[in-house]
Amino acid sequence: MKIEVIENVLKLNDELAEQNRTRLRAAGVPCIDLMGGPGCGKTALLEATLATLGHVMRIGVCAGDLATTRDAERLHALAEQVVQINTGKSCHLEAHQIGQALARFDLPALDLLIIENVGNLICPVGFDLGQSAKVGMFSLSEGDDKAVKHPHIVCACDLLLLNKLDLAPYLTFDRMRFRDEIERLHPGIELVELSAKAKDAGFLRWIQWLTAHARGAEHESANLSGAR
Ligand code: MG
Ligand code: ZN
Repeated sequence: MKIEVIENVLKLNDELAEQNRTRLRAAGVPCIDLMGGPGCGKTALLEATLATLGHVMRIGVCAGDLATTRDAERLHALAEQVVQINTGKSCHLEAHQIGQALARFDLPALDLLIIENVGNLICPVGFDLGQSAKVGMFSLSEGDDKAVKHPHIVCACDLLLLNKLDLAPYLTFDRMRFRDEIERLHPGIELVELSAKAKDAGFLRWIQWLTAHARGAEHESANLSGAR
């Protein structure tokens, strides 16, 4: 009986996620679900990303946190549109919350939507939001065992980031081992080592990936609408 209830909750979430996906595709807006532990630098990455891409792409951000509007406040000046979702006691975002947020966005006025999920490496992975790609983020300060301890986020994502490369001289973090463990869990997945703060070569690779994804997903939506 208990299992049935859980299955229904996830089934309902999947249905609502499909509705979000249809809505985003119809508007031609690719959507990234950015997931990572608290303090790995998700908001800092978005600040640097918006500062870099904001003049060539209209980017909306949907920030999820249990409480406060601090992330939205940080991103407000940089992003085209920002919506903050406060989840209260919930440690992840669900599709119904994104559905409510989408209603607040002027989607045709956006080229890309980035969802900053609640800082958590575990349950956000289990909830489809209707995104076109999932990005998982780790950082050097969290320790080099986080990927192997959280295999689901490694396996579910389309791109993985390792942030705070600028702190490498001060920390003990076996990057070779981290990379090997990720390759074993998800063969072929790209891991980008970067510093959002230093805007280094890895950061530029992230920008390149994001731009390519935004363009690719746009084409996909154009093909879909052309086929109908
Ligand atoms: Mg944040
Ligand atoms: Zn949760």
